[in-house]
Amino acid sequence: MKIGVMALQGAFIEHRRVLERLGAEAIEVRLPAQLTGLDGVIVPGGESTTMSRLMAAYGLLQPLRDLAREGLPIMGTCAGMILLAKSVPGFTLPTLGLMDITVRRNAFGSQVESFEADLDIAALGPPPVHAVFIRAPLIEEAGAGVEVLGRLPGTAGAAAVAARQGRLLAVAFHPELTSDSRVHRYFLEMARS
Ligand code: GLN
Repeated sequence: MKIGVMALQGAFIEHRRVLERLGAEAIEVRLPAQLTGLDGVIVPGGESTTMSRLMAAYGLLQPLRDLAREGLPIMGTCAGMILLAKSVPGFTLPTLGLMDITVRRNAFGSQVESFEADLDIAALGPPPVHAVFIRAPLIEEAGAGVEVLGRLPGTAGAAAVAARQGRLLAVAFHPELTSDSRVHRYFLEMARS
């Protein structure tokens, strides 16, 4: 498996390490030509404004949109989830606009900018996933074709924080920062099938 990791900004090295630990080949992507021949792409967490600007500047947005429409699996984590969304109220920069979700940035307030929580994600099986949230977004609305995979207990309406739509996977947390590699494994399975 050859998985591209958007390497413009953010936590791309950590994703690389998880992929390599799982036996996949990780390719750092900074230019459109590096998107050829990949079995999947990860858009990491970081700062969505910066990443959007850089993806636009390097001409990566449209090629990625085209590849996703042809079936390329893409996983977005945290800021990467923001970039996958079709709707991000208040965000004036372009996103990939691939997933039928409305995402609220920095959804958990500035006073509690990061926290950790255990999430039941049935698709990953037991035990719960220990998830690290860093100035995290949440999924406010999800269209009919979107399957919500995980919710954050104890929040209003049990906020959706993990979702899948076909070959697109979005999580609001940072699965690359813990030793639990089930989210990446799940993505590799998606990419394989
Ligand atoms: N708050 C960041 C943003 O809006 C996302 C944070 C993250 O990726 N850890 O882009």
